Parts: sequence; structure tokens; C-alpha cells
Amino acid sequence: MFEFFGTDYVKHEAKLVSWRPNQTVWELTMRCDQSCSHCGSRAADPRSDELSTDELLDVAAALVDIGSRSVTLIGGEAYLHPGMYDVIEFFAEREIHVALQTGGRSLNDRLARRLADAGISAVSVSVDGPRDAHDLLRNNPGSFEYAMRALHAVGGLGIRSGVNTQVNELNADRLHELLPDLLATDIEVWRCHLTAPMGRAADRPEWILRPWRVVDVLDTLAEIQLDLAAVAKRNGVPLSEVLDLKIGSNLGYYGPHEQILRTPIGGYATHYSGCSAGSTSLGIESDGTIKGCPSLPTAPYQVGNVRDLDLREVWKNSPELGFTREERIDELWGFCATCDFKEVCQGGCSFMTHTTFGRRGNNPFCYHRVTQLKKQGIRESIRQTEQAPGVPYDFGKFEIVEEQWNDDWRNEPMPDLYNEAPAPVAVELSPRNPKAA
Ligand code: SF4
Ligand code: SF4
Repeated sequence: MFEFFGTDYVKHEAKLVSWRPNQTVWELTMRCDQSCSHCGSRAADPRSDELSTDELLDVAAALVDIGSRSVTLIGGEAYLHPGMYDVIEFFAEREIHVALQTGGRSLNDRLARRLADAGISAVSVSVDGPRDAHDLLRNNPGSFEYAMRALHAVGGLGIRSGVNTQVNELNADRLHELLPDLLATDIEVWRCHLTAPMGRAADRPEWILRPWRVVDVLDTLAEIQLDLAAVAKRNGVPLSEVLDLKIGSNLGYYGPHEQILRTPIGGYATHYSGCSAGSTSLGIESDGTIKGCPSLPTAPYQVGNVRDLDLREVWKNSPELGFTREERIDELWGFCATCDFKEVCQGGCSFMTHTTFGRRGNNPFCYHRVTQLKKQGIRESIRQTEQAPGVPYDFGKFEIVEEQWNDDWRNEPMPDLYNEAPAPVAVELSPRNPKAA
């Protein structure tokens, strides 16, 4: 889930009252002004049957009725749907937090002004590493510049902003390098996720982070956070003004930095508490398909369509949607079935595990697991055994390969990922929605 603010803690809070989608992520269109090489939905052109503006507003009303407190609009690019501003206004008038998650390619001063006027609560821009890494992943030369322009455009209007970064083999060693560009903006939150092998990313298995590397990635992020806090303290800057590094639900779990990287600065200490798909999270695709989380692959997790079903009923009564509302220990397999944290973690992110293995319940992308296996001299890699079919939100299949732990892993031979990737293709910068131009 591409949550803008941390939501892990709300799962148990929600259970005490009744389940509600505190965080809804809503794909308004598959139309996009980029065609990123790691895009999970394989976005570029719109679907033929996307919801009209009137239909969007009906869904928005249903979301209010079922108690969604926060809605994040995604795409493709949400700003390429002609109804986006109406949706933002609808939620803003009802004091519901409405955020935009964007690649920012066309987000100039004018578009930022329109977002502000409509009442947008926050904007998060995807920045996937330093310039060359970002442009390669986005398959679009100049994309990094446009992302930075977007951040400055929203920051200049006082819109709350953040950055989302997908971590993978191309950028995992280069997180420090990205920091100065981020600190030159007004962002409050830098949230990192792992690139999962879904959509076009499934076609580039060599880009998926080798699972045992989550340890050095999380160590690096925690180090950056602590350094920023120490500098602020030395200079008398309040902690509330420090860039808040956070990790998404598919990056963790239970290592020494769990609280630093999951607790909002100044907030109550929290930790990962299991997948929230269908219990406090909800995803809607641009043709009206309903899923418990927007990141989940469509085929195994679609529970119907807003055109045929009342979303209020689906939220209340669909066991398929609410598969995380009950304990799922029985579905764990492999190391996760033996893990000390299994009751609370339940195998980590369903999206990450299902897109890797074709089912949930075993997650090698885990700090705790990597450090436990290291004590036995073992590390786990993954090897693709089945390719993805090539449709939106699809996935292939991988198997786990046990290897001997190597402390000197940085000197192991690796493919030259930058030079072996196809050269980025320039996409004409012409948002096809006149409202966005
Ligand atoms: S599948 Fe579950 S854990 Fe993963 S991003 Fe979605 S809600 Fe979060
Ligand atoms: S090994 Fe599995 S169950 Fe245990 S903490 Fe890691 S992801 Fe969670």
C-alpha cells in the first residue's frame, strides 16, 4: 500500500471499533505520461472501461459512508483523469485527507495551483534514486528533473509533500546519494518500499533486491534518520522539522530499527502488525475493480466491481476482501511458519509474497529472518521459474535458493545492471487531458 502516512498502528485500533478502510488507495486511470520499466500495473494507456466522473463521485460517497479517513489517488497518473479535481473537492469538503501519489512528470506550477485550489491535503512524488537510476527505472530521460520540479511546485504553495522510493538492486547502494536532492525540497516524509516482482518489474527479475540485502538497506535508512536527528539537535532544530524516513509495509521486519523507521517522528512507538489489506486498507482500480489493497495482484484478489456491487456491502460482508481480519497462521510455510514473530507478523506483506511465490505466507525479504539464517551461515536468494503473462498487476513465480553467507558480498561478481538495461525512451510530454495541461 502506498500510504502517505504510517498506518500500521491503526489496524488494532480499528479492530476495537469495527473494521474500516482508514487508508484507501484509488487508481483513477491507467493513463500515464511515462511508461516506467518497473511499473506494477504496466500503466501507459487508459483502460477502455474506466469509471466516469459521475461514477467516481458515487464511489467517493460510498467511501465516506464506510468511514475511509484518508484517500490516496494514484494512476497511471491520476491527474490525467478529467474527474480528479471533482474527487479532490468532494473529499476536501468533507474534511477527508486526500493525497496524490504521482511520478510528477507534468506536475508544474499551474497544476500544483489547481491541486491546492481543489483542496489536496498532500502530494507524494516517486523518486527512485539518484538521477541516472531514476531515469532508467522510469524509462524516461529527464524524469528526475520533472520529479524535482513537481516537489518544488507543491512545496512553493505550502502543500504538504513527501517522496516515495522503490528500493531495488539499481539503487540500494545509492540512498545516501539521493539525500541532498531531497533535503533541497520541503518534503516531510521519505518513504521507502521494495520493488516487488509485479507487472513490468516481473520482467526484470535481476532488479529485484536480493532478499538478504534488506539488512544493509534498513541499516542505511536508520543511519540516515539518526544522522539527520543528531544534526538537528546540534543546531537546535526541533525534531518535528526533521525529514521523517519511513518504510512501507513490504520492507522490514523486527530488526533493531523497526521502531525508528515505522514510528512517525514524535508519534507513539509502533511496529509492523501484519498485512492490513481489507481490514484497514482498500484498493480500487480504474475500471472499478475492488481489492483489499491496491498493490495486490488483480487476478487472485479482485472481489468484484463497484459497477455491480455496493461497496458498503462488500466492505462489510466479503470474507475474500477481509482475508486479514482473522488469524492466518495456518497459511504460513517455510521459515515464516517457524518464526517467533509469526503471530503478529503473519508472513509480512501479502503483495510481496504473492507476487514472488504465487501465494502468501513465506517472506525472505525480512530483517529478522536474514539475521537468524546468517547465524547458520545461510542466505536466501530467489530465482525466477515462471514469467509473468504480461497483463496489468500480473506476476510470475520464483523459488528460494539457499546459499552460503558471504561477508564479502560486495565483491561478488554482479551483472552490470545499468549498461545491460535498454536505453531509456523519451516519452513526449503532452498530457492528453486538457485539464492537466
Ligand atoms: S498487501 Fe498488505 S502489507 Fe502489503 S502493502 Fe498491501 S496492505 Fe500493506
Ligand atoms: S520470518 Fe516471516 S513471519 Fe517472521 S518476521 Fe519475517 S516475515 Fe514475519
